[in-house]
Amino acid sequence: MKYKIPRGTYDIFPKDSARWHHVIDTFRRVAQSFGYEEITTPIFEMAEVFERSSGESSDVVQKEMYRFQDQKGRSFALRPEGTAGVVRAYVENHLDRVGGKSKFYYIGPMFRYDRPQAGRYRQFYQYGIEFIGSNNPYYDAEVIALEMQFLAELGLKNVSLEINSVGCAQCSEDYDEALRAYYKPHMDGLCPDCQKRYHVRPRRLQDCKAAYCRTLKAAAPSQLDYLDQDCKEHFTQVKSYLDQMDVKYQVNPGIVRGLDYYTNTAFELIVDALGAQNSIAGGGRYNSLISQFGGKDTAAIGFAGGFERLLLALEKEGIAGYEPIKPRVYLIGIGEAVRAMAIEYLSKLRKDGIYVEYNPDKSSFRAQMKAADASGARYALIIGEDELAAKMPTLKDLESSQQHSVDYRQLLDILN
Ligand SMILES: [Zn+2]
Ligand SMILES: [Zn+2]
Repeated sequence: MKYKIPRGTYDIFPKDSARWHHVIDTFRRVAQSFGYEEITTPIFEMAEVFERSSGESSDVVQKEMYRFQDQKGRSFALRPEGTAGVVRAYVENHLDRVGGKSKFYYIGPMFRYDRPQAGRYRQFYQYGIEFIGSNNPYYDAEVIALEMQFLAELGLKNVSLEINSVGCAQCSEDYDEALRAYYKPHMDGLCPDCQKRYHVRPRRLQDCKAAYCRTLKAAAPSQLDYLDQDCKEHFTQVKSYLDQMDVKYQVNPGIVRGLDYYTNTAFELIVDALGAQNSIAGGGRYNSLISQFGGKDTAAIGFAGGFERLLLALEKEGIAGYEPIKPRVYLIGIGEAVRAMAIEYLSKLRKDGIYVEYNPDKSSFRAQMKAADASGARYALIIGEDELAAKMPTLKDLESSQQHSVDYRQLLDILN
């Protein structure tokens, strides 16, 4: 075989497409019921868009971004996540000046050069929500409740919501100081990455998977002890709204998220059955991102979830089987003489939205009846020389085996 699919990507064949569509349709329906509308942005942007939003020191920008130059030498990147493009579009179209509230959802492929493993790909698909235009903690709870309802409607049961507050810029500075003080005596034991993180963004130390760095995480100071009054109150309100919406959660001070732009609320959805890659969705507030993009200071919150791990989680709970769609009617045309009439019915029924199956390669009536049964169709529409002469086809109910001739109106009535 000469050609191979790129590592970390996959094909979606029809048997899996039905599951995909079920998930996507459910997400759209739930998002719409919360008043969110779809936005679609390009899969590549100026590389700066992501460097600005994710933070130049982040792993995403440093190691995982697919960068390329176009024919004029301009630097672009395939999007590693969805929020930056939405914020770029929001600011570029002056929605910050219009004010008010913007409620977006998106669905599409993202790209990260990462080591492929179960549920982790280089081209992966995300669905996400962005709410822009208010710092009211009600909206933190709203986007979380939306995600929880989506998962509930898919039937996913063993999923837990973990929430945290990473504070505003001021609180996180205080927290960074506390972290530096904590890690300082351990400096020599830290991995080389963390020695850099220590200076730039000490909270990243808590994401580190290196053995020694991990042992230090448990006793590290918690952001929750370094929240100022406003941020504390915001977090309390978020929890209170979640209680009122009957959304169950656990507070986990370890949720820090990998991107620089989060402020205040941060959350993750965990499915333990998935093992090491157990986070299926996550998000948080990003109150400073719009202004970093040159827009008016505007508060925002959002989340993104990955389809691959979600589908794995559904499979683990036995919620995987979506029946392929069966034809409503199987058209059997016998002989060259009737071909024109057969094709006429085939085209008319399809235009009227009926799923008709037809196989011009099978010649004998027996072979065609066998194919009709195998297709799972409820009816067979038979056109032979008698039907041609009468200008009326025969409709056979494959369940009851009864058959009679029908004109087109009767046929449509029965099939609809
Ligand atoms: Zn604060
Ligand atoms: Zn480390």
